[in-house]
Amino acid sequence: MPTGPRRARSSENGKAPMNLVVMKFGGTSVEDTDAIARTAAIVKGRVAQGKSPVVVVSAMAKVTDQLLRAAACAAQGDRTGALAISSRLRGRHRDAAAGLIPSPQECSTLVDLIDQRFDSLDEVLRGLAVLLELTPRIADLVASYGERLSSRIVAAAFRERGLDAVHADAREIVVTDSEFQRAAPLDAVIEKRAQEKLLPLLREHKIPVMGGFIAANEAGVTTTLGRGGSDFTGALIGGALSADSIEIWTDVDGIMTADPRVCPDALRVKVISFEEAAELAYFGAKVLHPATILPAVKKNIPVAVLNSRNVRCEGTRIVSLAPHCRSPFKSIAVKKKLSIIDIVASRMLMTHGYLSQIFAVFDRHKCAVDMVSTSEVSVSLTVDSNASLPAIAADLSQLADVKYEGRKALVCMVGEDIRGQNGIAAQVFNAIRHINVRMISQGASEINMSFMIEEDDADEAVRSLHAAFFKDPDLAVFDAEARKTAVELKAGG
Ligand code: ADP
Ligand code: ASP
Ligand code: MG
Repeated sequence: MPTGPRRARSSENGKAPMNLVVMKFGGTSVEDTDAIARTAAIVKGRVAQGKSPVVVVSAMAKVTDQLLRAAACAAQGDRTGALAISSRLRGRHRDAAAGLIPSPQECSTLVDLIDQRFDSLDEVLRGLAVLLELTPRIADLVASYGERLSSRIVAAAFRERGLDAVHADAREIVVTDSEFQRAAPLDAVIEKRAQEKLLPLLREHKIPVMGGFIAANEAGVTTTLGRGGSDFTGALIGGALSADSIEIWTDVDGIMTADPRVCPDALRVKVISFEEAAELAYFGAKVLHPATILPAVKKNIPVAVLNSRNVRCEGTRIVSLAPHCRSPFKSIAVKKKLSIIDIVASRMLMTHGYLSQIFAVFDRHKCAVDMVSTSEVSVSLTVDSNASLPAIAADLSQLADVKYEGRKALVCMVGEDIRGQNGIAAQVFNAIRHINVRMISQGASEINMSFMIEEDDADEAVRSLHAAFFKDPDLAVFDAEARKTAVELKAGG
């Protein structure tokens, strides 16, 4: 009998290998030498279980923010400030390479590559400081350096640790439209490219390592999937290759009953449905990018959210049908930086076609509306606070009286078990009776209950709701132990 890890076999039709797992590692899981070494050990563990991993990585933690800050500085004429940010980032990436790759030859090849990339980034920044204009297309180009670099470093670090890793350029696989900064994937093209570029590597038992978030349009111009988009890349690749599972490795034990940064008592949710997870992500739970679930749902691929700093924890399983839960809610999400727009038109409101004229304005400005409530004479809507609000208000004022107010937050309580339960709304509003509520909605999906409050009240509202709804958790669904671990790890990290 052969010993050692059982390697994945190709499936009968010779297409995807069996046991294919897409493993996405977020920024904190690749933030420095130690984190990347932990990530390598996690991937080795999967290979030892006979799995065929495809690895998708984010930029090292905070790098995307800093790249975009450098671009903004340059476009405001602060060339020195922009180049100083770039120089610090160059040092950080060189240090990671040096710490991870002991062999001098391999290390110097990697450091040369890092230097080449930063030289070209510096050219872009100098150009921006001359042009004094930052277009979405150039913002995407600048942001792309984060994942382009991290994926190279991680691939080299894996090879150094005995994994047969090969770097794959995500921009040759993830093809999107040209909506820079929030590009939409072209699923059929991605499926074809992923199968052409990744399956041959997998069949040779190689481990493809690619950047998340970054993509390209059909002309090959760099685009991105929007902030936090590496989760989405992981799911797109999982969908394109019909993976057996998708793993989202992050810095918390899984999807929690609330953001543990806000609510230290948060519990790990052991199992949650696709529908619930999608709702939570859309309404602000940063642990998952809102679009992540779609490709997984289409092919019914289970998704797990796992902690790269606590590998023994089982994380959260996202599945099509979650078990019944005694608690009406699974988790509380918060979306901040929202505005309320009040539209008042005494006579016309209920006339035929009036609401469609209002929505046409939002559509023209490509502005998504989160919540709507209407009365006889007014419509209130909530949207992300964004630079086009004054222009939207100006257009709407052709139709009615308009006012808008920022610094609002949407609190969204999600759970399939609110269906058919009486008195839940009363319990929710009793728990936050000390907080002024501006708008209320119970989603058509019947699995969420949302309301709008002042942004400054949001954290307090989450803690009060959490105390009311999770004091006696259903242990089949929630893990009370995670409470302690998450808090300790956060404090340590
Ligand atoms: P990554 O870089 O791995 O993608 P993110 O920072 O994007 O990680 O997402 C993880 C963070 O999401 C956690 O550190 C946590 O603070 C936050 N978060 C918000 N809501 C939740 C929730 N319900 N469960 C778990 N984490 C949450
Ligand atoms: N690096 C990108 C961001 O910070 C994408 C991601 O991390 O998911 O938004
Ligand atoms: Mg993320």
